[in-house]
Amino acid sequence: MTRLHCTSLLGALAFVLIGGCQNAKPSTQPSTQPSTQQSTPSRAVASDAKLVARCLELERRALEDNVAIATLRSLVMTAPKRLAGSPGMTIAEQWALAKMREIGCDEVRAEPVMVPNWQRGVETAATVAPQHVPLRVTALGGSVPTPAGGIVAEVVEVRSFEQLAAMGDAAKGKIVFFNRPMPRALRRTGSAYGAAVPQRSNGAIEAAKAGGVLALVRSVTTAIDGYPHTGAMHYQDGIAKVPAAAVATADADQLSAMLAKGPVHVRLELGCRTLPDVQGFNIVGDYRGSDRPDELVLIGGHLDAWDLGTGAHDDGAGVVHCLEAVRLLKAIACRPKRTIRVVLFANEENGLRGAEAYAEAHEHEVDKHVAAIETDGGGATPQGFSCSLRGDAAAAMEQLFEPLDRVNAGLFLSGAGAGGADISVLHARGVPCFGLWVDGHRYFDYHHTAVDDLAAVNERELALGAAVIAYAASALADR
Ligand code: ZN
Ligand code: ZN
Repeated sequence: MTRLHCTSLLGALAFVLIGGCQNAKPSTQPSTQPSTQQSTPSRAVASDAKLVARCLELERRALEDNVAIATLRSLVMTAPKRLAGSPGMTIAEQWALAKMREIGCDEVRAEPVMVPNWQRGVETAATVAPQHVPLRVTALGGSVPTPAGGIVAEVVEVRSFEQLAAMGDAAKGKIVFFNRPMPRALRRTGSAYGAAVPQRSNGAIEAAKAGGVLALVRSVTTAIDGYPHTGAMHYQDGIAKVPAAAVATADADQLSAMLAKGPVHVRLELGCRTLPDVQGFNIVGDYRGSDRPDELVLIGGHLDAWDLGTGAHDDGAGVVHCLEAVRLLKAIACRPKRTIRVVLFANEENGLRGAEAYAEAHEHEVDKHVAAIETDGGGATPQGFSCSLRGDAAAAMEQLFEPLDRVNAGLFLSGAGAGGADISVLHARGVPCFGLWVDGHRYFDYHHTAVDDLAAVNERELALGAAVIAYAASALADR
């Protein structure tokens, strides 16, 4: 972790730390002061202590109350299947509205947005020659179906689009098997995901360009497991739409080993389909600011989830982080100066309709968004935040977030882009954006699978994430 201690920041620090939740009654006092306070004016020392105390109190309440896991359990039991456009999403919307009222948001509303309606169907696959070996597959979101009975074709394995393009006609009429693993050596699994995920998102386009009849993609996960990991994929105008499926990494390795010995033929059937768009909603709840209620700090995650599991990590955890953040702030009697707005976005997984609709509906007040925070990395132990800002602006924010050091969440990654897909539209409009950074080593064990379920989430880690969001949102809203 890198910390800035240059004295030029102390003025900004003093500004940042004055004010806050006057009526907060933290029971835990910090045992030590940050090193910057050796030469900090006394008022800033007192204010900083108050922010540190708030941070510690939020953590204590989050762990002691243990409400976060109960909220997540309620979500995944009430609306276990909530892909945008599905009946389960309508149930999730009602759940979210009720939960926002229960925790005491001052204003709660559902904001309309048309969302895609893609539905999964039958999905089976196996090698048919040289011998029969079942393959665990799942359709990628947005895929067209195969003909009834499936596609039977020889498989050609590639590790990159460049390799495929260099093959000329060799892939014509074949199933293109994209088998590049996530790079294991990258410490940040999100970066490793980014290195492999183009196979999933664009594999069908590249397969079709090469004359292939189907894209079969190694699941994008660090684990060698038996669960196919779904996810979004795209088509391109003017290029044939071929079906696309993910195969479990264990089966991908087995298929690759078979191909090393000679030609392999696979039969694969997908019954998925795309129906006309349907009405969905972003669910929005405001915790009104005490002094500048028209100025906003947005905290958000996405309410939709892939349909294989219950989306406990992705993004049930993010939904819970945001709801629990408001509950925690109310529990410690902290009402910041600016409004904290919880936005549970309608459609992140197979589109970005929720984010786009929010930005359009709130274009008139986009300049009132002083910051946006997204949590869409799962419910593991929080480590800190990424931040879109650079330079002095980032340094001031880093100081504001420094109390998170006391709860082992002081990582601060400046110049790190939008912080999340749903707030990327606000980033594009100039809003300072932050992304919750959590331990990512286990996230892709569950990501977009049948095992992204409540059992995969640790209640203490989830609670800590909520406390960290609560601190960050309140600090930004008091700034
Ligand atoms: Zn997500
Ligand atoms: Zn996802």
